[in-house]
Amino acid sequence: LLYNQVQDLKGTIRVYCRVRPFLSGQCDQKSTVDYIGENGDIMIVNPYKRVREARRIYSFNKVFGTNVTQREIYADTQSLIRSVLDGYNVCIFAYGQTGSGKTYTMSGPDLTAEETWGVNYRALRDLFQISKSREDIIEYEIVVQMIEIYNEQVRDLNNSQLNGLNVPDASSVPVNCTQDVLDLMRIGQKSRAVGATALNERSSRSHSILTVHVRGKQLQCGTILRGCLHLVDLAGSERVDKSEAVGERLREAQHINKSLSALGDVISALAQKSAHIPYRNSKLTQVLQDSLGGQAKTLMFVHINPEVDAIGETISTLKFSERVG
Ligand code: ADP
Ligand code: MG
Repeated sequence: LLYNQVQDLKGTIRVYCRVRPFLSGQCDQKSTVDYIGENGDIMIVNPYKRVREARRIYSFNKVFGTNVTQREIYADTQSLIRSVLDGYNVCIFAYGQTGSGKTYTMSGPDLTAEETWGVNYRALRDLFQISKSREDIIEYEIVVQMIEIYNEQVRDLNNSQLNGLNVPDASSVPVNCTQDVLDLMRIGQKSRAVGATALNERSSRSHSILTVHVRGKQLQCGTILRGCLHLVDLAGSERVDKSEAVGERLREAQHINKSLSALGDVISALAQKSAHIPYRNSKLTQVLQDSLGGQAKTLMFVHINPEVDAIGETISTLKFSERVG
């Protein structure tokens, strides 16, 4: 109980862990996840270590096992997301190596099947619903921006002409219903301007950020409130073998490293209530500066791939989460 109270006091930064299930065809593999406790603990077993040193517990605000549904994941983030309508700024991040389930959590595997929708679509659906239910008291306007950060360059996914821009210049598109959002996402995907096979490759090396701006006018008194939700599908966190990566690949890897560690530095400085928060060290943290710290709320989903071959990345992912949590 005391532990939970301490977590609550820290308050504005939460770190959740989600374990991806084995994919079809992998079912008789051994898992590196030994055990998930109810209090946010997860025990990881490293098969390459001697028995006595192989097991270690990592602690999170919550851990979601392989059988947790998209609906259950959303149920847990719902109140955070709804607070945007009351004027809060919220950032939700998906962190993990490529293939660990980041896009699954944020977008979902199949836009045509609503029950598989990820946090992004559920969040917008919810925001539309609540804003409609309040329409007698507050008039809401909801607009979205979609950007990608690739090699420290910001690209507007709603307008492929705009490259290397400042974020306030990214096009803001008004949306009224989830269909508007779905249509936009399709266009956004297209403007990533790469072939279908290259898309996954590219998306794993860029940060993609869906930003929802909410403006509410209280009809009685005319007071305006503003809230903002950033939904961030981060670039894959895997370390690239320096001896193998050359040229473009190496450059990408260096940019990703730099921005993920800058993000880790910012969040851990915030968690420690440090006087200096190093926002300036990457494009990602600059873009999100107004929504990280202060009254803003942050949630990070840390994704684990349970395969034995992924143990090295899993441990480095868990170390990152210890630093920010
Ligand atoms: P990432 O975005 O981190 O590279 P993906 O979200 O693309 O990873 O997930 C990799 C694969 O695993 C995809 O085929 C995805 O559908 C599947 N997957 C990820 N998470 C889950 C989950 N919780 N349940 C079922 N399948 C999942
Ligand atoms: Mg992805």
